[in-house]
Amino acid sequence: MPADDLEFEQMLTEFEARHSPEGLLERYARQRPAYFWFRQVFALGGAAVLFLTGHPQAGLLALGTLVFGDLVDCAFLSTVPRKLAKGVPHKQLYWLTTLTALIQSLTSLALIILPTALGSPSATLAFTMAFIAGAGVNASYLLSFHPAATIVRLATLFASGIGILAYVVWQRHISHEAQLYSFFAFFMILFLIYTFLQYSRRGFAHKTKSARRLLEQSRKLALANKVLHEQESEVRRLALVAQHANDSVFVSDSSGRILWVNNAFTRLTGYSAREAIGAFPAALLNGPATDAATNNAIISAIKAGKPLRTEILNTCKDGSTIWVDTNQVPVLAADGSVEMFIAIERDVSARKKHAKELAAAKRSAEEGERTKAQFLATMSHEIRTPMNGIIGMADLLRDAGLSKEQRSYVETIRYSAEALMRIINDILDFSKLDAGKSIICPVDFDLLGCVESALSILRPKALEKEIFVDLNCHTPLPALLHGDDGRIRQIIINIVGNAIKFTRAGGVTIDLSCTTTAAGHTVTLAVTDTGIGIPADRIDQIFDQFSQADGEITRQYGGTGLGLTISRILAHEMNGDITIRSRLGEGSTFTITLMLDHALADAAQSPSKSPKTDAVKAVKLPGVKALVAEDNMTNQLLMKSYLKDTEMNVLFAGNGHEAVRLARRHAPRVIFMDMSMPGMDGLSATRKIRADTSITQPTIVALTANVYASDKAACLSAGMDGFLSKPLKRAELMGWLNQI
Ligand code: ADP
Repeated sequence: MPADDLEFEQMLTEFEARHSPEGLLERYARQRPAYFWFRQVFALGGAAVLFLTGHPQAGLLALGTLVFGDLVDCAFLSTVPRKLAKGVPHKQLYWLTTLTALIQSLTSLALIILPTALGSPSATLAFTMAFIAGAGVNASYLLSFHPAATIVRLATLFASGIGILAYVVWQRHISHEAQLYSFFAFFMILFLIYTFLQYSRRGFAHKTKSARRLLEQSRKLALANKVLHEQESEVRRLALVAQHANDSVFVSDSSGRILWVNNAFTRLTGYSAREAIGAFPAALLNGPATDAATNNAIISAIKAGKPLRTEILNTCKDGSTIWVDTNQVPVLAADGSVEMFIAIERDVSARKKHAKELAAAKRSAEEGERTKAQFLATMSHEIRTPMNGIIGMADLLRDAGLSKEQRSYVETIRYSAEALMRIINDILDFSKLDAGKSIICPVDFDLLGCVESALSILRPKALEKEIFVDLNCHTPLPALLHGDDGRIRQIIINIVGNAIKFTRAGGVTIDLSCTTTAAGHTVTLAVTDTGIGIPADRIDQIFDQFSQADGEITRQYGGTGLGLTISRILAHEMNGDITIRSRLGEGSTFTITLMLDHALADAAQSPSKSPKTDAVKAVKLPGVKALVAEDNMTNQLLMKSYLKDTEMNVLFAGNGHEAVRLARRHAPRVIFMDMSMPGMDGLSATRKIRADTSITQPTIVALTANVYASDKAACLSAGMDGFLSKPLKRAELMGWLNQI
């Protein structure tokens, strides 16, 4: 069997060449000389008969003529293959070989003519007929190889046969009856030759066709065999891969019964192939702890002939349990029915364990985070409450007609308490931001008002240092924007506060601009000072927590090193950033970029209520009822003192229940509501008051030591109108009273 298609191609080409006109001529040219001696036996036989019947010269002549004619034909034929190879045209050789065939056939007539002429025709007629028949059959044999040569030979024989018959009849050598038999015999011979010719032609055509078909079929068979062989190798390779794969593989029938398992299956489960084959995986591997829902999902997928990937707890042969990731895929037959399932399983116990540990660690981290947040809230509340007392009392003491020296002591107490509050605020803010909690509470606000109010807090310090603080607006500013004005103020106070702190001469310039697009506003605040500057190698670390340019700065200027860290996180929370350019000894520029939303309300509406901090002067509201809900006695005393000059009618409640009761009975115009109180807290009390339609609704302002944005949001959603954080500033309180 030929190895490949190429060999078949070659064989087909050879076949076609052998059956081409040139190929047939060449084969004819080889066949005739091959049977030369065979033919000469007959020539010799004929000559021998002439010799024996007393005509030795005629015998020799006939033999010589016959051999000569055949020699001429064969001699030329033996040169034909070479001539064809040399490129002599086929046509030329075809007609030349026809000519030599004519010579051969004419010379062969010597063995018909001489006996007839020399002997008695009645005696030689049978021989003549037999000769014509033999020579005719011999000539017909090569019809398909050289039709012209065959026709020439047959025509010569036919003509000679007719000639002999005509001669015999004309000479009346034989009886009338013999003549008739002879004619009939001649036509029988012609019919025999014709039949043989047909047989030879059809036989050759049939043989050629069969040989060609056989060759084509062999070729197809070889190709199919090759494909089969390749598929077999592929299947063997895949079987090897599956057998030696690291993942467990098993094949099951359409009902799910195991048909085959690989080595890894045995390694994973402990069950040998013999134990596994024929069993259902669920019966073999499910244990009491296996999830029934997962098992049902697998069974349903098998019934539906659908693929499924899931994780399931398996029980091994030794009783141990493992989590496996199983991927079950149906293999479909040509008609679409499920032929079998292939399941690939991987041990994911370690990953599961890890995920469980991670979840536990996450839970405990969240628990820790909650505890931390709770601790911070408590700390914040607990520190702010007494600080409220210290700062408030210091405020009151300052206005109590003290001597200059006493006044300076009080100022120091107040300044120190405020410094302490700033540190506490920074640390609390940072802890909250560090825990990933957003402290942004956006409202509609006035940007210029926000910047101005921050600067108004800082200006006294600049005045004291005799340095300027200039604000330049480069673009028109929108009347309202949506953002957390409190946190923006915090950033400005921090950056501009630092600029003032680190500048001895010159001043601070703030360049404010705002670009507005459909998406929102991009606010840019460039704060440039003429201060000490920052060494180039420290600029990158300046935003790190607790980081300062150098130790000397802490000694000289104080600070925690948290301000910039918090400011940058806040800027990031507002989709912005803070960048620095600075030269040591020449000054620095801090550029704050903030992305703020469009205001929800239109500019005509007033922004969220906020106290006017410049209203330090006591407001006079004689007889107007105010309710202070506050459980801490120091703070009650402080509020009493703050509100004394307002000439208001102030009521006090120690808890939420009392606050609601007093609100119902006295209908105060304003309520200052502490958030955390025993019994009922400020939020619940506010909700109760707001829900009571019999009460003329007062302005309710939160008064609380809880300072997170979430606290502010909770107060507003409970129905409060504003928010005052402890330690309470008198100016802020007056600001609110101004608005009621
Ligand atoms: P601090 O509370 O120490 O001011 P910050 O985070 O606000 O903390 O600032 C960190 C450090 O960055 C400061 O200690 C100072 O070394 C440097 N710094 C900040 N602003 C300026 C400025 N305008 N000029 C020079 N140095 C500055």
